[in-house]
Formats: sequence, structure tokens, C-alpha cells
Amino acid sequence: MRKELVERAAALRGYLHFEGKTPRFVYDASDPEEAFFVREATRYYQIYNAATGELVERSPEIKAMGFQYTPSEIRDLLKEPDVTMLQTDQASLLLRREIVRASDRTRCLLQVGVSLEPRDTSLNRFLQITFWLLPLGVLLAVLSGWWMARQLLAPIESLNAAVREISISQLDRRLPVRGAGDELDQLATTFNEVFARLDKAVSQMKGFTANISHELRTPLTVLRGEAEIALARATRVEDFRRVIESQLEELEKLSHMVNQMLTLAKAEAGQIRLARDKVDLAALARTLAEQMEAVAAARGIVLTVRSNGPVVVFGDEGWLERAILNLLDNAVKFTQEGGLIEVRVQARSDRALLEVRDNGVGISPQALPHIFERLYREDSSRSKQTDGTGLGLSLVQWIVQQHHGQVSADSQPERGSTFRMELPLAPLSSP
Ligand code: ADP
Repeated sequence: MRKELVERAAALRGYLHFEGKTPRFVYDASDPEEAFFVREATRYYQIYNAATGELVERSPEIKAMGFQYTPSEIRDLLKEPDVTMLQTDQASLLLRREIVRASDRTRCLLQVGVSLEPRDTSLNRFLQITFWLLPLGVLLAVLSGWWMARQLLAPIESLNAAVREISISQLDRRLPVRGAGDELDQLATTFNEVFARLDKAVSQMKGFTANISHELRTPLTVLRGEAEIALARATRVEDFRRVIESQLEELEKLSHMVNQMLTLAKAEAGQIRLARDKVDLAALARTLAEQMEAVAAARGIVLTVRSNGPVVVFGDEGWLERAILNLLDNAVKFTQEGGLIEVRVQARSDRALLEVRDNGVGISPQALPHIFERLYREDSSRSKQTDGTGLGLSLVQWIVQQHHGQVSADSQPERGSTFRMELPLAPLSSP
């Protein structure tokens, strides 16, 4: 504004001419721009005689303000800075002074002013608006913050409530996933996955407990029945001996089952440490096949082992022996007389592969996905006839997993089954 005023005063000075002592603004009235400028610039002006301090001329607006300098004020004014402020009740002006000479060479003081009103008004309006808007803005910010927080927390609260409602007996329930694809949905999905795993584990445990009770109750009922009959009817020593011998057989099966359960329980509780020795699976399979040969031969089953040299893995020989024996035992159990069992051991890239293939009764497609579950036995008359606990394959799976490997089964009913163990090979250079 100051710069504009200085320019305006300098330009106006150019239009000022004196006729004797009378000042006049001379300009081209037909030029609208020039006319507009002079009209605006001469709105607030006054001219004083610099020597006497007499008023020479002033604009009607200044006159209306009822303001006039005294000669002494004019003298002081000449010493002050060339831009000053003038404040009266009606208006506030910013004034610039210029020295001009009348035609008789008298020095005159020309003052050109601009009103500070518009600026003050907009400043006042701004302050007024700020005064009202600021608290309103703060209030709005607080309200919208509160609302946004509620919006954000609402799904967390409902998730929280949904999680709290799921108890151990309702693990099949799932949390709602809103489909927004955000972190909360991810959280709900993760929770659902955890619930699914827990649900599976709890159902397995329930099934296991139910099965154990069932498995133990049957032999115990048989034992009790035999003992009661013997007590009631047997009179001769030989009769008692026969009953006791039969009971001993039954008790052996029971203790085998309890031992297997205990082993599995310890294994799953992480109480068993496995050794990490070099074990040649091919040699181990051969030794075990030799042990099983008599049992197989007794049932007219031919048992062969094929391998292309040593197949060495890192592991615990005792536990690996147990796994292979379980597979061989099953193969013999579920193969009819005159059948064929083939064990094949080979190294393929960095994996050791051990296959036990039989041409026995096979496994139905419905049973196949469950055979590695604890206490699972295919529910058919043929498998109920064989001795078994349904724990063997669970143990095989645990042993193989502890050796960082996998075990799988393929089977066709009436044609036979193949069980495949895959373990990491021990590197050749390792000690
Ligand atoms: P079991 O003590 O009954 O043998 P497993 O866990 O070893 O328990 O096996 C579970 C079930 O898998 C068996 O009851 C049987 O139905 C099936 N199975 C395992 N191996 C064979 C096989 N070689 N041929 C046919 N069925 C098999």
C-alpha cells in the first residue's frame, strides 16, 4: 500500500500545474484510464504554502473530515518522514508528501492520501470471522475426531465381542469378515484360522479320548468275562491254565497299546529327543526285512528289498527302525496268503526315498485321508479281524516329521497299497 501511495503521489505531481497561485490538475479527460487515475488520486489531497503554512487547496473529502494543519504543524511536517498516518473520527489516511513549486516559484507542500478504511474493514471482518469460526472449528474438529474414532473402533469392538462369545465348546463358530480387505479383516481371518486349528485339535482330542475308552473297554470286558466264567465253571488246573494263558495274550496286547499311547503322548509333548547319527536306510531296511521274513513266510508272503547302494540320512536309528517296522508290520497284516511285499530304497537328488509296496487288501478312498490319525482303523470287517491299535501310522508320521521328512500313502482297494517315506539325504561330505 505504501509503495502504491508513493507512486500515486509522484504521478499526481506530474498532473499538477499552477496558474499563478491556483493549483489545477491538468489531464486528458478523454482518456478513461487517465481520468480514472486522477479522480482516484485526488480524492484525498491538500496543498499548503510551505513557507507560510497557509492552506492553498484541498479535496472535498479532506474538507469534510474538518481537518486542517496549522502553520507550525506544516513546519514540523516538513521535517518528518515523507509518509505519515492521519487518524480522525471519520477516517484514517496514509499520507505522502511531495514538494512542488508554484509558477511564482513558491514552495508548496502537496499531500496525497489513501484511505486505510477498506483494509481496516477487511481486517475487522477477518478478526470477527476468526473469533466465531475458531471455537466452531475446534468444536467441529473435536466432534469429527470423536465420530471418526468411534467409526474406527466400532469394528474392533464388535470383533472383540465376537471373540469373547467363542468358548471351547463353540470352536466351530467363526468371526465375521467384512470384506473391506483391511487390517481388521486380516485379523479376523487370522483368528478364524487359529479357531479352525484349535477346533481340529480339540475334536481330535475328543475323538482320541472316546476311542481310548472304547479300545480299553472291549478287552477289559473280555478279560472280566473269562475270569468270571473260569471262577464259576472251571474245576481242573488245565482249564485255569488255558484261561490264564488267553488272558496273558490279551494283557500283552493291552500293554502294547498302552505303551504305544504313552510313547505318542511323550512324543507330542516334546519329551523325546532324537539322535542325529548317520543311518543307512538301505542297510536298515534289509536287516528289518530279514527279521520280518519268518513272519511273512509263515503266511506265504514273499518279502523283497531293492536298493541301489547305501542311502544315508541323519537321524535316530532306533526310531527310524520303529517307523519301517510299523510299515512292514502293516503290509504283512493286510496282505493275503501268497502275496508280495516289496521294499525299495533309493536316493533321488537330495532326498532319500523308502517305499513299502504290497498287493494286499488296499485302503478305501474314504479311509485313505484318515489312516495317519491316532486310533484310526478302517471300519471294515477285515481290519477289525486283525490285531491293531490304530496308533502305528501316527507314530510313523511323528518319526518322519521329526526327521524333516514326509510320509504318504497310495492305495487301491483289493489291489494293494504303497507307503512312501521321504527324508533329506545326509550330504556326502558331512562327517
Ligand atoms: P493298526 O494298528 O490298525 O495297523 P495303523 O495306524 O498302523 O494302525 O494303521 C491304521 C489303519 O490303516 C489300519 O487299521 C488299516 O485300516 C490301514 N492300513 C495301514 N497300512 C495298511 C496296508 N498296508 N494295507 C491296507 N490297509 C492299511
